[in-house]
Amino acid sequence: MKPGFFDLAIELEQLRQAGLYRQRRVVEGPQTIEIQVDGRCLINFCSNDYLGLANHPQLAQAFKRGVDQYGVGSGASHLISGHTQAHHALEEELAEFTGRERALLFSTGYMANLGIVSALIDRRGRVLEDRLNHASLLDGGLLSRAEFQRYQHNDIEDLQQRLHQSAQKTLIVTDGVFSMDGDLAHLPRLAQLAQQQQAVLMVDDAHGFGVLGATGAGVAEHFALDQQQVPIFMATLGKACGSFGAFVAGNHDLIEFLIQKSRSYIYTTAMPAAVAEATRASLKLLKTEAWRRERLHQLIRYFRKSAEQQGLKLMDSMTAIQPILVGDSHAVLLAGQRLQDQGFWVGAIRPPTVPKGTARLRITLSAEHSFEQIDRLLEVLPKALRCL
Ligand code: PMP
Repeated sequence: MKPGFFDLAIELEQLRQAGLYRQRRVVEGPQTIEIQVDGRCLINFCSNDYLGLANHPQLAQAFKRGVDQYGVGSGASHLISGHTQAHHALEEELAEFTGRERALLFSTGYMANLGIVSALIDRRGRVLEDRLNHASLLDGGLLSRAEFQRYQHNDIEDLQQRLHQSAQKTLIVTDGVFSMDGDLAHLPRLAQLAQQQQAVLMVDDAHGFGVLGATGAGVAEHFALDQQQVPIFMATLGKACGSFGAFVAGNHDLIEFLIQKSRSYIYTTAMPAAVAEATRASLKLLKTEAWRRERLHQLIRYFRKSAEQQGLKLMDSMTAIQPILVGDSHAVLLAGQRLQDQGFWVGAIRPPTVPKGTARLRITLSAEHSFEQIDRLLEVLPKALRCL
């Protein structure tokens, strides 16, 4: 082995020098707007708990009841003894809610994306992905060993040209809401193109599910696209749903095929049944408490209007993800630290999560924020961004 080959200290130091070192903060209680972090109370503008359900009493009660009924561990994978009535009922409810024939649970969104993409396509096929897709989708494409291409962000012409170049079996993959930009995929055009070219479209709606669409069923509902138009609809349950895990919804054959072939489904322990029970409670709240979604959208509009009045440059997002582009990694860390000094917690997002030179503050809004908390954030933001 080469000397210094595994000199991790050197690589760690390089990350520090480049402003790319990542550090965890220790949270001392539940995901709430006023959150205890490392001994301090901060106003939380970085969680994906968009509807404020992660600490909702009905989810907590359902979780506890689930433990009473099923215990803590699920004991085995879904295909051995881990698939309970709770999981089964949740799958049926998710299928109904999304207007799809069937749904299949995965333990996390990361695993779902690896497992779906790599099961559906192999080295004889082709995966075309938006270049800003989530890492798990990109990794799924690489894992599949198919021909793998990334098209320009939301650029239908670029995708179209690539589609014309070959007649292989093709999977087109896109985030529904781009996780670090907050913008929506041009889904109707993608769906149309996929149908014209006999490609299959997969959408990851991690950040739209629960938030977009008249009933909260996500980006496909927002654009009124059915199962034929978006045949592979995946979403996560750890964001707006306030719970944990993920699912894919589609037709009967898709789900049966994934049960047979998806390695991250087959070779892993099922999520605890109590988690599935908590998610079932969350789905009920999505249906009965539409005010959470309405309130969130009201806050998003308020944030954008007030930020623009302050002269802040926003990105093209109508979702809960409202990033502010800074550019340099060191600069974004400094801005994040200044905000923390003022009592606000905002994510400082750097490469490789976002492309080089596009580091940003990722402000996320929740239905639980108050207008006053937004006012206070907007008061300190310009100062945090000054002379970076
Ligand atoms: N897809 C997208 C678009 C995401 O933002 C995330 C989470 N950051 C995932 C998938 C992964 O989901 P999970 O956290 O459940 O693994």
